[in-house]
Amino acid sequence: MWDIPLPPYVTGEDAQFAVRAVVVHAPRRWSGGTVCRNDASPHPCRLHRWGRRVLALRGLRAAEIDLLIERGDPAATVRPPDRPGA
Ligand SMILES: [Zn+2]
Repeated sequence: MWDIPLPPYVTGEDAQFAVRAVVVHAPRRWSGGTVCRNDASPHPCRLHRWGRRVLALRGLRAAEIDLLIERGDPAATVRPPDRPGA
């Protein structure tokens, strides 16, 4: 299974798409395992993995991404990346 290519540079727009991807493609408990709430493929599905990677590139920690998924708001805003010295 191939993965969706990551953008070379993660823009704010990419980050918002990624938030929507991880929230809409959240895990759902199903008999025998965990599946994607949106497309019922085994969790994490392709879009969920893509979203997590993009958000990680954007500087979010795994716990912060988990929190976004927990809140379940696909329109949640992501803080800009840390810029040390800026
Ligand atoms: Zn999915």
